[in-house]
Amino acid sequence: MEPIEPRTTPQPALHLRHAIGPWRPVVAPTCIDCGLCVQVCPTDVFYVQPGHRHLAAPRDERCLGMVACGACVPACPADAITITPGPNWAALDNSDGHMTGAITASIWEMAARGVDSPEDPVNVGASGRGFDRLALAVPGDVPRLIPESVDLRVALHHRGREFWAALPVVGESGGADSPAARARAVSAHALGTFTLASAAVFASTPAPYKDALILEVAGASPEAGLGEIACAPALALCPPFTGLHALEDLAAHLDWLRLVNPGALLVVSLDAAISAPQVAVAAAHAGAHAVHLRGGARPVQMAGLVHLTHRGLQAAGLRDAVALIAGGMRTPLDVLKAIALGADAGAVDQAEQIAMGGIGGRVGPAQNLDPAWAARRLVNMYLAWAAEWRRALALLSLPDVRALRGRLDLLVRVV
Ligand code: SF4
Ligand code: SF4
Repeated sequence: MEPIEPRTTPQPALHLRHAIGPWRPVVAPTCIDCGLCVQVCPTDVFYVQPGHRHLAAPRDERCLGMVACGACVPACPADAITITPGPNWAALDNSDGHMTGAITASIWEMAARGVDSPEDPVNVGASGRGFDRLALAVPGDVPRLIPESVDLRVALHHRGREFWAALPVVGESGGADSPAARARAVSAHALGTFTLASAAVFASTPAPYKDALILEVAGASPEAGLGEIACAPALALCPPFTGLHALEDLAAHLDWLRLVNPGALLVVSLDAAISAPQVAVAAAHAGAHAVHLRGGARPVQMAGLVHLTHRGLQAAGLRDAVALIAGGMRTPLDVLKAIALGADAGAVDQAEQIAMGGIGGRVGPAQNLDPAWAARRLVNMYLAWAAEWRRALALLSLPDVRALRGRLDLLVRVV
């Protein structure tokens, strides 16, 4: 595993052979090859190959659609052009609108090129719930800062140990040892962030990258070996601590982990269930340094849970004793909304899988993935996210991302 630089490196789409888009221009056989559509199309969907007399197959993925453009249809003297929905595009949408084709394509683009579109960032799903009902409200009377001056570091420490994440995000995939897991470790190390890792991944990850891992353990009967727990810089205590009946166990497990590894960052990683706010308060009482609400497949309820957990910790006088990490983040704006609702940072799973060639959480990264290629794509994606975070925080006149925590006044309901 070679280290990589924390800079944008455009990557070829090795196994994503066909770019796809939401629209499919269809040219009927009545076409008279006048070439007018070639002239009017602003994105070069139509073209004629050198030496050919007829139009080549349209480059569907470039079409902007009838609402945003539609210029070719009235321009065609033979009424030969129809703009139809792209048949592959619909397959990218999750049934509940949580992860849309537009978000998926945006992540692919950011992973490939390391940039997003400041004019039209794809940041909102179509679920009509949770984060999709919220937007950041930019006050009109505040000075805008220079985006490059905005500090994106977040502190995951609060009780003596210093664990700074250079970006307000951690990876939450965990899972089996795989090329994707190695890519996550390398990219998190390059970016100065962290990623959850199973015992198998932790054991196979070489030294410099272990510092970027948060080792998942199940409790006092750990899957991970004692030696790994004792040397891991950060430990995530994972379910079954989702029910109130297990709170005493939770405290006992944290005591045990502190005994084995007194210097570790202790994260309690919870399913985003209705009991999560109470368990988070109990975890903070028991000495956890951070609480992670796991995103799961459809984290539409995450927005409410983050805020309830933040309020619960405030009411217990423990808000500054523990960092709160909101899982299931799909886009950079999701992360900022979660922080405005009370989180310190976001956690990402599906978007990382998509960056590495998966599709909307249904098809994961390939087993024959090149870890270096995938790690560079993750770095590209997160650098694009960082640029968007800086732009948004500069507009909000916030010098650092930590100043956004709990700023409900900067959120508005949009649907
Ligand atoms: S609708 Fe616009 S972008 Fe799409 S093919 Fe026609 S001219 Fe090109
Ligand atoms: S404008 Fe219509 S007739 Fe002319 S080349 Fe394009 S599709 Fe064919």
